[in-house]
Amino acid sequence: MKQRTFARPAESLAGLDEIGPCAVCGHRGYRHQDVLWNGLVSEWELTEPEAAYINRQQGTQCLGCGCNIRSIALAKAICASAGFESTLVDLIATAPPDRMLEVNEAGSLNPWLRQFPGHVFASYPQIDLQALSLGDASVDLIIHSDTLEHVPDPMAALTEMKRVLAPKGRAVFTVPIIMGRMSQTRDGLAASYHGAPGDSESDLAVHTEFGADVWAMVMQAGFSRCEMIAFDYPAGIAIVARR
Ligand SMILES: [Zn+2]
Repeated sequence: MKQRTFARPAESLAGLDEIGPCAVCGHRGYRHQDVLWNGLVSEWELTEPEAAYINRQQGTQCLGCGCNIRSIALAKAICASAGFESTLVDLIATAPPDRMLEVNEAGSLNPWLRQFPGHVFASYPQIDLQALSLGDASVDLIIHSDTLEHVPDPMAALTEMKRVLAPKGRAVFTVPIIMGRMSQTRDGLAASYHGAPGDSESDLAVHTEFGADVWAMVMQAGFSRCEMIAFDYPAGIAIVARR
């Protein structure tokens, strides 16, 4: 029997003028340029609507701050996780001094995140998400963007994140999600790399293709809550995992 799926991507995406104000800077104008290349679309077995919304996620940018939809969704989730309803720029002025760990550059949010009082930055391989060199319950907020799909064991990474988070701590992150399928490992499949056509650096290799069950992986790692925050569904979605 044919599997029936409900979480299909929109057949056609809304116009750029229908996207809401940027969650980083509040600007309302956007520009778009496709970023996917044919090799990646075929390795990923993307349908046309799926490729269209991944292109929008990575290639539609705010004219005010330059952030793409992926980074803007992450900014919205950071604000929402703090119970804050305005922009990331406004949150900086009022934020509590959370101990914040940014792993790799979180999309293009680094210039704003480093203005937060408790911000610490670490990048791979100095920091390994599967074996964090941090004490238990030592961080209030962990932020990363499109990093977990490059980690060989994403469940180990999620479990480590939960270990180092303080009570009431949260991890806020994005991964590329294909809504109409379940998550799958690329182990045993041909190597696939993000970045740009022809890239073959090992830290750009994709180990996991995330699907609609990404929330279940968060719960399985022991988090008590998983919230999916939409900025521009299905292109702009970010995840808040609460310890
Ligand atoms: Zn903006």
